[in-house]
Amino acid sequence: MLRHDQNRLYLSHSGMNAMLVLVLLIFMSSSVYAQAVPSIPEAHGFGTDPSFTFLPPSAIDTTAIPNMVLRAEDPADAPLPVFKIAPDTWMFFGNIAEIDQYNRGWNGNAGFIVTPAGVVVIDSLGTPKLGQRIIATIRSVTDKPIRYLIITHNHPDHSYGAIAFRRLGGVKVIGHAGTLDYLRSEKIETSVAFRRSFIPEDMAGFAGVEPDIRVAGERFSAYRFSLGGRDFEVFNVGEHHSYGDLVVYQVDQRIVWISDLAFNQRTTFMGDGNSRQAIEAQDWLLKKFSSARLMVPGHGSAQTAPFSMVARTQSYIKRLRKVMRRAIAEDVDLMSAVEQADFSDWRDTRLYELNQRANASFVYRELELEEF
Ligand SMILES: [Zn+2]
Repeated sequence: MLRHDQNRLYLSHSGMNAMLVLVLLIFMSSSVYAQAVPSIPEAHGFGTDPSFTFLPPSAIDTTAIPNMVLRAEDPADAPLPVFKIAPDTWMFFGNIAEIDQYNRGWNGNAGFIVTPAGVVVIDSLGTPKLGQRIIATIRSVTDKPIRYLIITHNHPDHSYGAIAFRRLGGVKVIGHAGTLDYLRSEKIETSVAFRRSFIPEDMAGFAGVEPDIRVAGERFSAYRFSLGGRDFEVFNVGEHHSYGDLVVYQVDQRIVWISDLAFNQRTTFMGDGNSRQAIEAQDWLLKKFSSARLMVPGHGSAQTAPFSMVARTQSYIKRLRKVMRRAIAEDVDLMSAVEQADFSDWRDTRLYELNQRANASFVYRELELEEF
């Protein structure tokens, strides 16, 4: 059963603090305190609900939200549920949640295309084990060799499964040139440690993967390749969301894999990248691919024209910039400005409560720098 009320579980921060205190008081007053404290991180309110499993009937233009519960003991060679979204084209429609021990890092999308000469994979999901399970899924559909893995950007939910493909051998990894900077940064260490704290079993064997083909050059230029008579275009869309972001165009099917350039069914995350570049890249995307058949985002369901998720994500970013610019002009300090940036009409959108303050503070600091 689909539980629409899931979205409404997200309380405001003050509401949440009050709730935590209340829960704590109940636990402390209970004689079974020791047994009653669950080993669930506090942040579970934004994670995956362990009490049910739900897969929407379609991964295209749906408002239904998947709730896929994975387990540490699941075999690595067990296929994941996957949707066929076009001829020879498959999509993993992931949980729309933050990482926790129930989704085990499966909180984003990925996909693959089977050509007569082999398979092209787009993104590797969030752990080495999920990478193995993508491979198992591909094996359940075709025995064609896996030839390419395109990593749309370095964020963990898209790239930490890449090592499984490296170990497989024979797979050319395509990534943004900026990936190398990420692999040499301190950020990756913090990020890997964070994932290991939740799901150590699934992170076993993790190692960063350097792309064999590094996409760089002018923004919106493309690296092109063909496999089995199918053409692919991999666009450098700058650093709007990470150390370097790609958009993949599957020419024969007119499907655009837009990565995190727009989010569907959830609030964006702005902790890396550049909000001005995001707005420019969204304009470019809508203009260039207005007649595409489908856009597949990194989070949420795939969408047909007019691709409302792009305008919606963009309007959120523009609004945040406007509110923060006004705050800076009025000499409002960072903390107060973040407090004021409360978009009540977004509260029912997944991960709003989790990301809004971080996004607001990111944009404030970004605009302060832009002023100079
Ligand atoms: Zn993502």
